[in-house]
Amino acid sequence: MITWFLKTKYFVPDLYKTDVYSLDYKQLYESGIRILLVDLDNTLIPYDIDIPDVKLIKLFESIQTLGFEVVIISNNQRSRIKPFSLLINLPFISSAKKPLKSGFKKALKKVNQTPNPSEVLVIGDQLMTDVFGAKRMGYSVCLIEPIKKRSERWYTKFNRAIEKKMLEKIKRKYPQKYQELKLGKR
Ligand SMILES: [Mg+2]
Repeated sequence: MITWFLKTKYFVPDLYKTDVYSLDYKQLYESGIRILLVDLDNTLIPYDIDIPDVKLIKLFESIQTLGFEVVIISNNQRSRIKPFSLLINLPFISSAKKPLKSGFKKALKKVNQTPNPSEVLVIGDQLMTDVFGAKRMGYSVCLIEPIKKRSERWYTKFNRAIEKKMLEKIKRKYPQKYQELKLGKR
């Protein structure tokens, strides 16, 4: 299986939450996080929805009021990401090619930031793109439960299969962290 040569430590999230509403953003800010790079599909909205609802718009208004810079970073195409980002009033990077580093670098340019990696938190639902990409950059990462798996594309389903193997590796190599983050729920 593909996972044998992938270093397990690059796939261990720092936080694991049910959804984007469950994070304590005030505490994150106090801990030194200044920039949030947030995935779109299955993190903020499911694949079959195109626009943010009022609750989500308000959440990101309050997050920005706390002082965070926020960028939407998605591997999906511009035609999907742009209308969403305009409505929620956030800058975006589409076709980000996570877990490659280029998309993350472009995202920081969007907000004219050259932060210390410890100031950046990635939020996303996938181990193989969001967590792996964040860890390659030296960022912190909060894994989210995917909103709705049913309508995922074939390549995401492929990533999920590898993700399952990787979760087993995390359980073996970092049993305490696995317990602490409740990754068994996934
Ligand atoms: Mg996603």
